[in-house]
Amino acid sequence: MGFIYNGLPAHVIFGRGSIAQTAQLIGELGGKRALLVTTPNQADDARTALAGAEAIVAHFDGATMHTPTNVTEQALELVKSEAIDSLIAFGGGSTIGLAKALALRTDLPQLAIPTTYAGSEMTPVLGQTENGRKTTLRDLAVLPEKVLYDVDLTLGLPADITGTSGVNAIAHAVEGMYARDGNPVMTVLAERAIGLLAEALPPIIENPLDIPARERALEGAWLCGTVLGSVGMALHHKLCHTLGGALNLPHATTHTIVLPHALAYNLPAIPDVGARLERILRGDPAQRLFDLGRAIKAPAGLRDLGMAEADIETVTTAALENAYWNPRPLEREGIRALIARAWAGERPA
Ligand code: NAD
Repeated sequence: MGFIYNGLPAHVIFGRGSIAQTAQLIGELGGKRALLVTTPNQADDARTALAGAEAIVAHFDGATMHTPTNVTEQALELVKSEAIDSLIAFGGGSTIGLAKALALRTDLPQLAIPTTYAGSEMTPVLGQTENGRKTTLRDLAVLPEKVLYDVDLTLGLPADITGTSGVNAIAHAVEGMYARDGNPVMTVLAERAIGLLAEALPPIIENPLDIPARERALEGAWLCGTVLGSVGMALHHKLCHTLGGALNLPHATTHTIVLPHALAYNLPAIPDVGARLERILRGDPAQRLFDLGRAIKAPAGLRDLGMAEADIETVTTAALENAYWNPRPLEREGIRALIARAWAGERPA
């Protein structure tokens, strides 16, 4: 056994009502002229939640999916014209992505206030889109200096997004447990995160205002983001990237459908991880993750998202291109069979 552990800097404030600390946190970043970044539909919520933060002098509410560079350029104009000295992202992965893109170009310090379970706030990774082409970079300059998690801000997250973005987070932790560059710290975090989210998501779907369950889910999401920011991913993320990129399938729902099947494919090669997951999920991990998808009322099959049967072959070919590391070697027939099952919405085999 051998590993390298390279911890990323993080200052995390977690707690109900912690939004009240925003003004102090901006001050700690040296901010006197902060820019607030949101999507259009969270603009009012953010202004209300941050009404006491007097250092906020401007608000850009045009954050959108996939961080298009033309939107970043618009926000950059505001950064310059308002002599901005710090950034506050209030929202999900799309909003946090825009603040990261601004930090990359300006080196301004960031306070991220996540309101979903995507986990981007804990990673030094930024995906950007230019002329319809998405590229991803890894740079410590984009890692937010401070992250504030307040469960009250997640209560309005719609049930369907809650469930699938929670399983999307679980997928980061699952693949983190068998990452080639994994280490014991990330394994411990991943185990705790998977247990928290798997337990918390079904009750939240029944009652989105279940505060203790929401707190467990948010803590799990933080830990999953930490794992994603620290170690490399494998087959499952490659498949979802291919399905999202080539067929434009929705990100978190695709993760939810594919995860049990990708894990079932890998399990024979990772008996130790399989045994740990079996303890956490109380049963065969691939089957239990399939059951979790049904408990959160997610679609069972990729066909339900509009994928054509003929695309099983296309996605198989794409998944085998650009060789990448996976605990089990990529065998065409096995990969094809797993995609076919995920397409049909069958149980993992
Ligand atoms: P999102 O940020 O696109 O948010 C989806 C919608 O939900 C938005 O309209 C948003 O305003 C709204 N919303 C967010 N929180 C809400 C709340 N609490 N109540 C009501 N509405 C709310 O979705 P996401 O899943 O958080 O982020 C997805 C994006 O993040 C993808 O582009 C993905 O690639 C990226 N991402 C990046 C990383 C990284 O490390 N770079 C990690 C994970 C995800």
